[in-house]
Amino acid sequence: MSAQIIDGKAVSQQCLNAVADAVAARRAASLRVPGLAVVLVGDDPASAVYVRNKNHACRQVGFESFSYELPADTSEAQLLDLIDELNDNPAVDGILVQLPLPAQINSQNILERIRPDKDVDGFHPYNVGRLAVRKPLLRPCTPKGIMTLLTAYGIDPKGQKVVIVGASNIVGRPLALEMMLAGATVTVCHRFTRNLAAEVAAADIVVAAVGKPKLICGDWIREGAVVVDVGINRLADGSLCGDVDFDAAKQRAAMITPVPGGVGPMTIAGLLENTLQAAQNRD
Ligand code: NAP
Repeated sequence: MSAQIIDGKAVSQQCLNAVADAVAARRAASLRVPGLAVVLVGDDPASAVYVRNKNHACRQVGFESFSYELPADTSEAQLLDLIDELNDNPAVDGILVQLPLPAQINSQNILERIRPDKDVDGFHPYNVGRLAVRKPLLRPCTPKGIMTLLTAYGIDPKGQKVVIVGASNIVGRPLALEMMLAGATVTVCHRFTRNLAAEVAAADIVVAAVGKPKLICGDWIREGAVVVDVGINRLADGSLCGDVDFDAAKQRAAMITPVPGGVGPMTIAGLLENTLQAAQNRD
């Protein structure tokens, strides 16, 4: 058996088209074009690529984009001042601060300073809390993108056993909340999980979000399972790979996301959808 490859690029493009249509409709109705501010601190090359992709997608859908590139020695106070300014700027509907931030800046202080109604990354404790109590507003982008991708492929998590490997604030934990909201039975694995192979082998849907190349072996995957690989790892030869041993896993899975071209583009789709939603909420 060889798995169907889940095409995140194609689904993301559909989402972007829908956002672009909504922006055009807003223009036609003389409503404001949504504005997204993207803040990059320092010169981490991977972050610079992510920010470039986000700005490019912004332009593609017709958003107004505000880009801030700050030096690596920016202080926490300086960044907080910029957040305050963006919070007060009526043309800005969404604020995204690219993580990770340099060591002198406490990321949590920054994320919590962003007004929850402009928190288009969905990382503010208010928005995570809304998801936890089953009343989501702005939903964390990568988990949101994964749910959209599954829906696009007719995969309904309701009643399914979902195993998420990775428990970070930005992927694993909020995805567990999304999956519970969708009616799945969820297991979240992390560094202290005793028998990762056995947990993965029991899953109808496996999501890997760890950041360790090929941590998930192909022969752990249950025949016919759905595999979602969030990991983005750069290998010594410059190529990208996920957290799952893709070639082996695709022999057992029914469907699998590739890296690149799977979850990555969906994160951007989630961000743009959130920014549109934030603008609509502020009308
Ligand atoms: P992170 O904050 O470093 O979290 C990694 C998680 O994996 C932690 O919960 C950690 O457990 C767990 N973990 C580490 N080693 C493990 C092991 N041997 N077995 C089981 N669990 C283990 O990473 P992240 O920010 O969530 O990102 C994870 C990966 O996804 C990275 O490759 C990142 O680049 C990628 N990513 C991709 C997208 C996208 O759009 N495609 C978006 C975000 C992130 P503890 O909690 O116990 O430390």
